[in-house]
Amino acid sequence: MAASSTVPPASLLRQAYLRQSTAFCPGCGHGIFMNAFLRAAAALPLDFDRTVFVSGIGCGAWVPSPHFLADTLHVTHGRAMAFAAGVQRARPDLNIVVISGDGDLATIGGNHLIHAARRQTPIKVFCLNNWLFGMTGGQVSATTPREARTATTPAGNPDPPFDLVRLVLGAGAPFAARWPVSLPRQLARGIEHALREPGFAFVEVLSICPTHFGRINEPLFPAGEAPQSIPWRMLEWLRRQCIEREKAAALSPEERAGKILIGEWRGEECWP
Ligand code: SF4
Repeated sequence: MAASSTVPPASLLRQAYLRQSTAFCPGCGHGIFMNAFLRAAAALPLDFDRTVFVSGIGCGAWVPSPHFLADTLHVTHGRAMAFAAGVQRARPDLNIVVISGDGDLATIGGNHLIHAARRQTPIKVFCLNNWLFGMTGGQVSATTPREARTATTPAGNPDPPFDLVRLVLGAGAPFAARWPVSLPRQLARGIEHALREPGFAFVEVLSICPTHFGRINEPLFPAGEAPQSIPWRMLEWLRRQCIEREKAAALSPEERAGKILIGEWRGEECWP
């Protein structure tokens, strides 16, 4: 992939890379990710004619298919990594990029994810973590925070969530990163870094689902003095909670409590 170049404005990005406008709910974080991904793709540039996008089922899976002007495989629920591994074996000359959600990649398809990390299959994986199954109605997933309410845990989730970065690093991934949609510039840079990796690369994208997660967990996202929409409050919450791992290293355990570490990790590094 060539060196970074100037990224064209959003209208040209749409013309160059998208088939249609999005059908995401108003305020959904996935649109921010899509914009950041296209900016990273344009900066590299990522040749869409030599890239296969693979996704499973869910709102995150809609990012490449039907939107991207590229070859896309939109497969059965939880099986994006398995199909992507097959494409990679058959056509190692192509860029293989998986974009799907936490329900698809880490819950139903968690087994495929950890084994792709273990094998270091050269696939770039972007997991849009919105803390539940969004498209199917807001059910609990493997990343739903403890105590959070979902359609299937109306009294609060009793179980601890996966830390996806730790999960894939523990399985053997050589590169993993976590960025929130509340920091779109850092997110675009992080996507670009992952796409430049020669081998397996995993990015957890902290996204927001105002429709299912935000509405049912509204008290978790306190409003400011002026009236603010739920998506705005969720983005503000993410912005407050996320801290870059280098800055977190200077904090005391009390100051770090409850914070979400963001940044990039190499497989050989000890966690955190
Ligand atoms: S259900 Fe949630 S994740 Fe899906 S498009 Fe709507 S806001 Fe986004």
